[in-house]
Amino acid sequence: MLKTDVVIIGGGISGISTAFWLIKRGIKNVVVVEKAYIGSGSTFKCATGIRASFTSEEHVVLMRESINLWKALSQELGFSYMRGGYVWLLSNEDQLKAFRELSRIHNSFGVPTRIISVEDVEKLVSKIDTRSILCALYDPLAGKADPFEALYSMAGFLRSAGVRILQQVEATRILQNGPQVVGVETTKGIIQGPIVVVAAGYETRGLVKTVDVDLPLKNVPHHAVITEAYKRAFDPLLVDAASGSYLVQTFHGGFIMGTEIEEREEAQPTPRVDFLYKVASVWIKYLPWLRNVNFLRYWVGYYVMSPDNHPIIGPLPEIDGLYVAAGFSGHGFMMGPIVGKILAEWIIDGKPSIPQAARLSYKRIEEGKLIHEKAVIG
Ligand SMILES: Cc1cc2nc3c(=O)[nH]c(=O)nc-3n(C[C@H](O)[C@H](O)[C@H](O)COP(=O)(O)OP(=O)(O)OC[C@H]3O[C@@H](n4cnc5c(N)ncnc54)[C@H](O)[C@@H]3O)c2cc1C
Repeated sequence: MLKTDVVIIGGGISGISTAFWLIKRGIKNVVVVEKAYIGSGSTFKCATGIRASFTSEEHVVLMRESINLWKALSQELGFSYMRGGYVWLLSNEDQLKAFRELSRIHNSFGVPTRIISVEDVEKLVSKIDTRSILCALYDPLAGKADPFEALYSMAGFLRSAGVRILQQVEATRILQNGPQVVGVETTKGIIQGPIVVVAAGYETRGLVKTVDVDLPLKNVPHHAVITEAYKRAFDPLLVDAASGSYLVQTFHGGFIMGTEIEEREEAQPTPRVDFLYKVASVWIKYLPWLRNVNFLRYWVGYYVMSPDNHPIIGPLPEIDGLYVAAGFSGHGFMMGPIVGKILAEWIIDGKPSIPQAARLSYKRIEEGKLIHEKAVIG
């Protein structure tokens, strides 16, 4: 039987980042359990985007901190990361009014978004057709990171620090002795440990149910497509505010695109032709030359949605030693670095150093104090 100080279930950005920060804080004995291969959940299906232009104080502040960590981590570990900005394309006065107000909120928490003119958009995004837009919100701190390089380099750091990352090992049950967590049952035997972190994405709810807590998380399929590699065109990630569609050019040159389509909760993540039509029609309107670029690959993954579009991060009440990080509602990649740091602080210090992070624990759900986030895209 394996014994450790901390067992982390899930080898996505949340679990790997938590292991990273635990090591940085001096906890040496950490095991990560991953049922398939690291990144195989939502992390390797994400669109690479990182931003702080959200609508809640909690998100704006925590994403700002995460952005600082992305920069530091990319320098330390050598993965691709850049601050190319986000450009939110606005097409009418109502949107302008709403985004002006949002920008005021962003600025009050140190995130320097601003409204920019059509001419500014044309300078940032070459060959864009701006006939349907009025102006844009520009978030210069935002950007993108390569999820494959980021996760593999963090995992490399962990392995060299002695962390065991067990792949093809599925956690089946969280083990308790009275109110204390004592380990995890897996398909390869029991792993004993007084602290368990569940960062298992779409399976977090099922795992936490094994200790009789039902987290209000729902898995909703979201679609993305990538084109063949194209010469470097522009740096910012574009968002069409009207439809919540996005487009970004990856470090390899392919354009990733996504858009909202109606999906049922817990539906199988299955490709749909209507998604391709919708996403292509939005982006060909702005970038007519995209007609000549071929789609290369199409995938569908889950957004794990919480009732207020904020994640649940922190301890679970009445079960000593059990922590969760899930329910990122479509923006858990960008949040990964700060999530790991917050969980390490909960585990080691008993509370996070940033007050806004403490508000995201399960307590808010129990007490019905939801904090609503509106800026969910794709
Ligand atoms: C199409 C799409 C585009 C997206 N774009 C963005 C974006 O641009 N920016 C952004 O910030 N976010 C984006 N997201 C959301 C982002 O991908 C997720 O929020 C984030 O990856 C969540 O990371 P995680 O580590 O919490 O979960 P996951 O990456 O899902 O990792 C959980 C891991 O746990 C493992 N696991 C599950 N059950 C068990 C078990 N029983 N035992 C052991 N292991 C288990 C899984 O195999 C998985 O590897 C996007 C998502 C999708 C689907």
